[in-house]
Amino acid sequence: MVMSCSSICGPLLERPVGRVSTGCPVMVKNKGRWRTRLPLLTFACVDCPCTLAHTGQGRFRVNANGEPLHVCLLVNCVGCDRTGELTVHDRVPVRSLPADLLDGYTANAPDLVAHTLMDPWIVWRNRFTLLWDGCWELHAPTPSQGPWPVRVLVVFDDPVPLRPERLLAQGLGLSRGEVARRVKTDIPLNRRRQRDFSFLLV
Ligand SMILES: [Zn+2]
Repeated sequence: MVMSCSSICGPLLERPVGRVSTGCPVMVKNKGRWRTRLPLLTFACVDCPCTLAHTGQGRFRVNANGEPLHVCLLVNCVGCDRTGELTVHDRVPVRSLPADLLDGYTANAPDLVAHTLMDPWIVWRNRFTLLWDGCWELHAPTPSQGPWPVRVLVVFDDPVPLRPERLLAQGLGLSRGEVARRVKTDIPLNRRRQRDFSFLLV
């Protein structure tokens, strides 16, 4: 968790904030360390039995030799390194894409690689599943010593599907039983979630 997230939390700056991070190599403010890697994805290799792929350094293939435009995100088989493609745009008019987006594809912008890989539409269209194990971390402040109750905001930088009870046990240093007793929130704690939420710690 990190204490600072000024662009997101605004008035909650004085309060504890939990943050789930993963993804592209972007410096995590105040911590001076790098985020962990992007998730692997399920991908059927035609050359070997491996069913996993990674995005490596993150490269797009842009066919801009006239219309229509075709944009792919390149992935590599974990087993044999064979290159595969995830379709991002298929035969669309060049002018239908904003110029800065096209520039991002051409420059292999890391943020755009991460955003594309996690885009639910891209995931659905290419029929893969993201595998998040081992590629996210929780930045948590030292648990408050009171006064109670205290409101806590959990911010997801990336859509990592997690059970809140697990996340809160880890972030607050509590057992799951204590989490059930002391965490008051409207969301189900045992159901995977990948969006921001807040709770009251009593
Ligand atoms: Zn392979």
